[in-house]
Amino acid sequence: MGAQRELKQALERHWRGELSPAELETQGQRLRVRHWELQRDHGLASVAVGDFAFYDQVANHIQLLGCEPARFGFSGDEPELARYFAMARGVAAAHAHDEACCCGAASPAAGQPALEMTKWFDTNYHYLVPEFDAQTRFRLNAGRLLAEVAEAQALGHEARPVLIGPLSFLWLGKAKAEGLDKLDLLDDLLPVYRELLVQLAAAGVQWVQVDEPILGLDLPGAWALAFERSYNALHNCGVSLLLATYFSPLEDHLSLACKLPVAGLHVDAVRAGHELQAVLDWLPPQRVLSIGIVDGRNIWRTDLDRAFALLRPALARRGGELWIAPSCSLLHVPVSLAHDAALDAELRSWLAGATEKLAELRVIQRALNEGETAVRAELFAARAAVASRAASPRVRRPAVGERLAQLPAHADRRASAFAQRQPLQRERLRLPPFPTTTIGSFPQTAEIRAARAAFKRGQLDQPAYEAAMQQEIALAVARQEALGLDVLVHGEAERNDMVEYFGEQLHGFAFTANGWVQSYGSRCVKPPVLFGDVARPQAMTVGWTTYAQSLTKKPMKGMLTGPITILQWSFVRDDQPRADTALQIALAMRDEAADLEAAGIAVIQIDEPAIREGLPLRRAQQPAYLKWAARAFRVSASGVADATQIHTHMCYSEFNDILPDIAAMDADVITIETSRSDMALLRGFGDFRYPNEIGPGVYDIHSPRVPTTAEMLRLLRKAAEVIPPEQLWVNPDCGLKTRGWPETEAALRHMVAAARELRVR
Ligand code: GLN
Ligand code: ZN
Repeated sequence: MGAQRELKQALERHWRGELSPAELETQGQRLRVRHWELQRDHGLASVAVGDFAFYDQVANHIQLLGCEPARFGFSGDEPELARYFAMARGVAAAHAHDEACCCGAASPAAGQPALEMTKWFDTNYHYLVPEFDAQTRFRLNAGRLLAEVAEAQALGHEARPVLIGPLSFLWLGKAKAEGLDKLDLLDDLLPVYRELLVQLAAAGVQWVQVDEPILGLDLPGAWALAFERSYNALHNCGVSLLLATYFSPLEDHLSLACKLPVAGLHVDAVRAGHELQAVLDWLPPQRVLSIGIVDGRNIWRTDLDRAFALLRPALARRGGELWIAPSCSLLHVPVSLAHDAALDAELRSWLAGATEKLAELRVIQRALNEGETAVRAELFAARAAVASRAASPRVRRPAVGERLAQLPAHADRRASAFAQRQPLQRERLRLPPFPTTTIGSFPQTAEIRAARAAFKRGQLDQPAYEAAMQQEIALAVARQEALGLDVLVHGEAERNDMVEYFGEQLHGFAFTANGWVQSYGSRCVKPPVLFGDVARPQAMTVGWTTYAQSLTKKPMKGMLTGPITILQWSFVRDDQPRADTALQIALAMRDEAADLEAAGIAVIQIDEPAIREGLPLRRAQQPAYLKWAARAFRVSASGVADATQIHTHMCYSEFNDILPDIAAMDADVITIETSRSDMALLRGFGDFRYPNEIGPGVYDIHSPRVPTTAEMLRLLRKAAEVIPPEQLWVNPDCGLKTRGWPETEAALRHMVAAARELRVR
């Protein structure tokens, strides 16, 4: 995106019509030139080409391989960039309507939704999902890539095109036709890759990097088998192939990866350092081995001595021939942290953004080639930083460790089982059947954002800011009362972000001024840096929540973010297991819940929308993760009395495979996203006999469309067919912060009416 998110600004100006396609192209070229220079200045032997994308690298491949989905109805006369953004962002309809229009299957004239977006392996980067059907054919369209290769070469760089390999590309796409086996498309796809490699060879390219990260997944046998066939077909095209794997150990695919007919293999020695020995055993001596030694997924400075300990024996085994590299693409870390204005010098010295990681590679290379004396000063600085981080009192708070060590075994269990808690909560809350509630946030209006920005800039003082937020809270409470909702929320007006809000108040977190990473398209996130033991100096939400409660006799739901979500959406320390860090956050949240309870709050929601994201890529490692994740949640939720009702919220739509783990979290009430699946995923909860209460979302908050009472009633009755009615809650799919007030009030009015009608019936 550029160090100052230049691409974001350029893209958004282009979409607003303020920047022509040619000007956007120029901006893209400027970034490529700068990033290539950065690689050369740090002594890299070649520069990556083809990793630049105006939206997403997978989307680039859709055009490169000529498989734009037919549903967009392109004639082929549209400019390539226009087609690209049409796929990435969707095409507006000729008449006003939204995602859930009555027109049914859309024709091009009625607009087209964008390609689906989904997470790139276990990162927070979202790619655009290729769509395949029985008619899908591939055709090489290498103009853009070849132009970028030429661009790099003209600047004197050794260009190393980076491609997503054919099997990973197919795997990442979605079969849109019933019964289509994506693997059947391989025979049509391979010749296109072949032709591409031949053209790259003709352009003077020597090495092509082919990424096959799916080698780190549990693959069906047919997919694993297809590797040999594929790489036999791509062999002998006049270029040397570097097969790149990352994010996960190769395990049962290790020998396969080592014997494929390619010129070199890249492995992720940060995530799978324990496999390096086996790779050294299996990889034939004539192949190049590239070791991903600098962590591309996290922002910590490399412990160079640990790196040397891994690399020196490998170097000896390989007879002095070794490549070193970051473990994966540097897309997942900020461009640089060396001068970040929000961090102090000590903290900065512990971190490495992409640029600093390139410098680390150079130091490692020189130390290995020329001896440590050649880089004495750099090694000294690196060792000093690693030592200061290891010894810093900012990192270790003995009280936190002691508390964890003494945590009683029952700290992750409520005093009584749900069956005993439920009547106590009913007695206390006296809610009607099918109680109505919302997920937490209400519209973040322009006024709210302006007030927060002014407060952060120091233009609004604390009392004035608090008064402004209280006014918003009062407004939200009054509106909920008027709507007749049963369990109210304060609306989260004071929260910029559900993780940042807590991180800013907890010890152990730091925030960067410019540590942006791409989330999707032009969207970037700035994850907090979780560098030290987590402690809560004081209550974080009690003031706002009790103020809101003082305005109403209805129960006010306290609103917290769960330990796994905070963990998942931060750059997390790598000097202790993630499970331990999660437990520390859990303790802070447990104390917050206890404070809310002591202040008279009877319902507390602990959001865990990210729990599924933390699932390890390999199935064998998933149960252990689910176990500690559910435990961390329970630790946060179990410090309150039986009569206090704990809610949780999750908002993705595949639960069925982890239902026992969700049940093990033992929240009294869970609210989930279900409306888009037409309640289908609720069936899993029913079949599983999910024991606690459930609020299946009855309307999609991603659309401004106001659903009718009848629609929501239909969904609720469907829900009541699979879940015992006395267990059901009525609520939207997720928080409402991205919506406007008019549609929010209208939709909630219909939702309350639907609940009332259901009660009567
Ligand atoms: N309580 C949060 C909200 O309503 C939950 C957001 C989420 O699920 N991502 O905004
Ligand atoms: Zn949600």
